[in-house]
Amino acid sequence: MTETFQTINPATGEVLATLPIAGQAEVDAAVAKAAAAQKEWAKRTGTERGRILRRAAEILRERNDELAALETRDTGKPIQETIVVDVVSGIDCLEFFAGVAPTIAGEHIDLGPSAFGYTRREPLGVCAGIGAWNYPIQIACWKSAPALACGNAVIFKPSELTPLTAIEVEKIYLEAGLPEGLFQVLHGFGATGAMLTEHPGIAKISLTGSVPTGKKIMAGAASTLKNVTLELGGKSPLIVFADADIENAVSGAHLANFYSAGEVCSNGTRVFVERSILPKFLASLKTRTERIKLGDPMDPATQMGSLISEAHLNKVMGYIEKGKAEGAEVLTGGHRVTEGVPAAGFYVAPTVFSACTDDMTVVREEIFGPVMTVLPFDSEEEVIARANDTEFGLAAGVFTNDLTRAHRVIAALDAGSCWINTFNICPVEMPFGGFKQSGIGFENSREAIHHFTRLKGVYVAMEPIDAPY
Ligand code: NDP
Repeated sequence: MTETFQTINPATGEVLATLPIAGQAEVDAAVAKAAAAQKEWAKRTGTERGRILRRAAEILRERNDELAALETRDTGKPIQETIVVDVVSGIDCLEFFAGVAPTIAGEHIDLGPSAFGYTRREPLGVCAGIGAWNYPIQIACWKSAPALACGNAVIFKPSELTPLTAIEVEKIYLEAGLPEGLFQVLHGFGATGAMLTEHPGIAKISLTGSVPTGKKIMAGAASTLKNVTLELGGKSPLIVFADADIENAVSGAHLANFYSAGEVCSNGTRVFVERSILPKFLASLKTRTERIKLGDPMDPATQMGSLISEAHLNKVMGYIEKGKAEGAEVLTGGHRVTEGVPAAGFYVAPTVFSACTDDMTVVREEIFGPVMTVLPFDSEEEVIARANDTEFGLAAGVFTNDLTRAHRVIAALDAGSCWINTFNICPVEMPFGGFKQSGIGFENSREAIHHFTRLKGVYVAMEPIDAPY
């Protein structure tokens, strides 16, 4: 009998669905089906492939509100976010790569009158996407759209905590005219992901997940020398200089910490504030944080919903307790919320720790919950060194009105995805990815094409061979 698992609404505990776990036989069958379909797909022109992606984007747009509601039920995130971000950022990605598909090309290389060279950008074959639970539909789209545009087939394994919207994406691709087998969803836990990682018929793994899983996947992929893209965790710095607009910087710190209850990989959870403006910054931060409305994620007025699971709640609360024990001051929050609607879910009050120091656990480790740490600084040189003193390198932000300082500081930060005077805005036109232990490779932008194609160099002789034998 096939093993199954249940997915629940973390805000209410309601069981949403029971789904089958894919084992080796299902993985083998999916790979065989994908490989057969991919051969034909690779022969289509980019224009034809793009047309299908565009049609899928249109269907996603028509179904935006219904898919957002499903995502909210599966993740506990507020509908006011999922209705404007989660599905929309997936649609943007499909539209962008629909446009890019016909432009994928090699180059001509002049080698003088006797020869020339050219390069071909070829699909990799069957690619696997493995997703985290925080942006499920967005991740399914961000992995599949560039892969399909380049002529690959995709097998996607969503996190077992949030499997529902990927199923809808599979149906939408089929409805849009994507031939069967080119986008298949397989469900399961880490073991299913490991089967994909080690499968000899799969050419590439693209993971969005934690650093430890990224390391396991890279090690597992080594047995077949697979190409990997890893979008992993972070503990990103957000630096506020004294000349910044303080209210704007507080807005930035909020965007960088409390969207999706803080379950965002690129969050700027280490907020460095220049000492001279610290009292003013903290006063505004406290007032505005205490206005954040927690509640039923389906209520359009709710600004923060439930965390993804009880296990994750316990992890986040464990960090909060550790922060208190290590001497961080609670400016606001610092507790679970169990009154009213939140009683049925896994809610944590938006929390700000002030008077933090660089060695505290809450400052060093990724919490992946609504927990901001504030750290005072005195000079530009000092803050750059402290911001870079981490194993992670996903994102970074700077708030300042000094034009040259903004660019100088960003250039000095070890992070792949950076913002000046805002945070966490990720348009598909721009590359998204991290340095150091935050990952390998980039998603989105034209850069993604390099991660879903292989480059072939072809030398063409135009004269008879001058053989020495
Ligand atoms: P995990 O690393 O626990 O899981 C990610 C995915 O990998 C899941 O589908 C998981 O399956 C699967 N998986 C687990 N073990 C293995 C394995 N050995 N081989 C193959 N696949 C495996 O991450 P979370 O889902 O908990 O997501 C949170 C993490 O993701 C955070 O660290 C966050 O920073 C990061 N993240 C990074 C982003 C980025 O773009 N840089 C964006 C969003 C999140 P299962 O769920 O069944 O265990």
